Amino acid sequence: MTKNFENYVLPTYGRQKVSFVAGKNAVLVDSEGKEYIDFAAGIAVCSVGHANERLTKAICDQVSKVIHVSNLYYIETQGECARKIVEQSGYDMKCFFANSGAEANEGAIKIARKYGEVEGKPKRYKIITLDHSFHGRTITALKATGQESMHNYFGPFPDGFVYAKNIDEIESLIDDHTVAVMLELVQGEGGVQPQDKKKVQALEQLLKSRDILLMVDEVQTGIYRTGEFLASNLYEITPDVITLAKGLGGGVPIGVVMTSKKDIFAPGDHGSTFGGNYLSTAAANEVLDILSEIKENGVLDEQLIYFETALAKFAAVHPAIFLEHVGLGMMRGLRVVDAETLGKVINAAREAGVIVLKAGRNTLRFLPPLTITKGEIDEGFVRLEKAMASL
Ligand SMILES: *Cc1c(COP(=O)(O)O)cnc(C)c1O
Repeated sequence: MTKNFENYVLPTYGRQKVSFVAGKNAVLVDSEGKEYIDFAAGIAVCSVGHANERLTKAICDQVSKVIHVSNLYYIETQGECARKIVEQSGYDMKCFFANSGAEANEGAIKIARKYGEVEGKPKRYKIITLDHSFHGRTITALKATGQESMHNYFGPFPDGFVYAKNIDEIESLIDDHTVAVMLELVQGEGGVQPQDKKKVQALEQLLKSRDILLMVDEVQTGIYRTGEFLASNLYEITPDVITLAKGLGGGVPIGVVMTSKKDIFAPGDHGSTFGGNYLSTAAANEVLDILSEIKENGVLDEQLIYFETALAKFAAVHPAIFLEHVGLGMMRGLRVVDAETLGKVINAAREAGVIVLKAGRNTLRFLPPLTITKGEIDEGFVRLEKAMASL
């Protein structure tokens, strides 16, 4: 299982010794035939579960016709996908299609830089981001990420990124060169930490009054992860720029930057070879249909509450290990007493047949498929109890 990795794959990940070869909704099967309840969904990616019949059919139908043609031509599924995203968001925006979260954020940063050039005298270029944020691994998205330890080795970086300790500190960091603030409404990698709604709304007002762009990184929080289409909907704000990726393609790589500055780019300003091709946008269109249906018929909200209740109950049984229950919707975390215990819990869970994740230093993270059933949730927590008993 590991030989090809030892010989041919760069060792950038600490991989667990398991290989999943199949799945069905929130169940994964490994190469030995063992079944697991998936509370991770490929880090919030498999939003409609594994081997979803509708998604499989949509992808197969599309690839049997055409996978890719390039953005030199009108790609019908891309236009349709942009319409669905804009309609479901409720915002008056237009979309650009990329292939990942980092790339979507690169697009957001380019929008800010061009806005600062066109609207600013002198040019405004500084972007304020938050400590413990995560915006991706390309050089610029990495520089936007407010975790200095990740910046080791990779400089020099592009100028113009300023880090605020928290939302309260943003105002004091604004100067004549500030063009944008970029943040996650729930910090995912940073520890499943939701921002305070009133503070975010006050920030929105402040930024609007100074003509500074509010850019919300919804790569993890978007696509119904928090219960609404976007966390921005839940926070009742109207950002200028929003980025999406993880849950949108149901596992097919796709990223989007959407903005109310509809005229910011002219032909040639930005582009992507693969971005928004028939394969990824046909997949995203089906994901958007499936999820908007379960949102409208109430099933998603019911499952969210069921999951949250089961998780709270589980945490309450182990107060010495789980100190706090954090997060929103199907983006949840339990603060674990220390990092070592967290590692043990994750390994014991896997042994017992449940996949869970780590976030930040000591947060046990849950990002189940949004289509998870009550039966799968129940089974997952039965297995987690078994894992705790084995510690
Ligand atoms: C995962 C993530 C990214 C990076 O996405 P990639 O597809 O890995 O480039 C950026 N921002 C947030 C908030 C994320 O959770």
